[in-house]
Amino acid sequence: VGEQDAQYLVSKIRTIPGFPKEGIVFRDFLPLMADAKAFSIMIDALEKTLPVPVDDIDYIAGLEARGFLVGPPLAARLGKGFLAVRKAGKLPPETLKENYSLEYGDAAIEIEQGIIRPGDTVLVVDDLVATGGTAQAATDLIRRAGGQVVGFSFVMELVGTDGMKKLGELPTTSLLTMP
Ligand code: AMP
Repeated sequence: VGEQDAQYLVSKIRTIPGFPKEGIVFRDFLPLMADAKAFSIMIDALEKTLPVPVDDIDYIAGLEARGFLVGPPLAARLGKGFLAVRKAGKLPPETLKENYSLEYGDAAIEIEQGIIRPGDTVLVVDDLVATGGTAQAATDLIRRAGGQVVGFSFVMELVGTDGMKKLGELPTTSLLTMP
């Protein structure tokens, strides 16, 4: 992203210290989504900074919930299908489930069984990467389904967390680095 576009995107992100709990500086990108110009800059930029060649991607996978906002417009733009990685308990059976640990407590995500075929390649997208735990869990889940995660695209990356490093074995891009 060019400096001017990056500044425009950052200007649309709302920062809420202490939400949803003390110690977390929440970065809300819904105002960015609501701004037609920022939304279009964001999707253009995600398309331009794909971490792997477009032909190496079969599916875009988005992580619930904000990955569901970024993933489908990008997938439609690239002519790819979209896979929803949901929080546990929302999908009808049969599903594949992955439990993982977060900074505070545990979580689980699910995908529908049978959508991913062996060898399918998947780009994982989300609004923000912090510890990388969620994206790593999605990767483990997609691998168990027989798919191959080829890279990650994030709108924001939090500095001072090692999420990008953790996922570093695979090509990863983020549009904005947030303090
Ligand atoms: P992590 O698994 O630690 O990389 O956290 C990433 C997931 O949690 C993403 O789905 C984000 O939407 C959400 N998240 C984590 N930290 C924040 C934050 N400071 N502001 C907004 N969302 C966050």
